[in-house]
Amino acid sequence: MARDAIGKKKRRMLRREVGFGCPVEGCRVPFLEYHHFDPPFNEGKMHNEDGMIALCPIHHRQADQGAWSIEDLHQMKKAKKREKPKGRLGWSIDEGVVICGNNYLFSPSLTLRMKGKELFKLEQDQKGKISVNTLLWNNQKEIVAEVKNNDMLLNHMIADDIDCMASGKEIYFRAPDNSNFIKIKFERLPIEECLSQAKNCLNQNVNKSVSSKIIERELNGMINVIKFHTTINEDDFSFRAGDSKITFDFRKVGLGKEDYYGNEHGVNGALNFITENGQELIYLGK
Ligand SMILES: [Zn+2]
Repeated sequence: MARDAIGKKKRRMLRREVGFGCPVEGCRVPFLEYHHFDPPFNEGKMHNEDGMIALCPIHHRQADQGAWSIEDLHQMKKAKKREKPKGRLGWSIDEGVVICGNNYLFSPSLTLRMKGKELFKLEQDQKGKISVNTLLWNNQKEIVAEVKNNDMLLNHMIADDIDCMASGKEIYFRAPDNSNFIKIKFERLPIEECLSQAKNCLNQNVNKSVSSKIIERELNGMINVIKFHTTINEDDFSFRAGDSKITFDFRKVGLGKEDYYGNEHGVNGALNFITENGQELIYLGK
């Protein structure tokens, strides 16, 4: 019998139940899989959430080998106190394309800042590797999730959802009250595939710009691609980086809404929104 997919709601419920991190003592890795134990999948052939538990891939393997009794696993599901989930992104990136909205950036450094808070930042370390930094907050400005140089520290007590794919390809954090979210996806794609994705963009320059950089660097084979999606709702504005565009929405303070499709930044490589009295609202640049 083919193994049908576990529904989205069930997976989220199982992640929430363990506080978005592997519940095995001392683990707390946020990259999770879903283990069937009561009954095991080959006996039950169903996804009954009362007999399932979210575990990291290593502890999932060990659970399959009978490391814990059915009773132990039921107890693990019920535990009340849990530490904050901790983990590290294993992405090893020397150079690549960052996609944010319709922006294709061929740069090892990128900063997206909102009112002084660094929502997303790529930095190059001493070895030339690009490290990921990100920050998500809720309405009370409490930190829901933080990634510092690839190290993740997650606040399971206030997060609405934390979904880190066991394959390590994608991380997703969502705040409970204002729908703020961050999604970062990392892929190593064949160059042709990256170019054909760029071709689907509304802005024809995107394709030209990405291909010329690829030719310039004499790249062939595979290319690193980091895709960044977000929605941030502040008191005075909303910011959205979707699949095809970036939207700045200042209608809450009586100003307009603008969709940004550009693929290159301004003269100094930055997009910058500043209030009348000089306070920085949004900065997107190097
Ligand atoms: Zn574990």
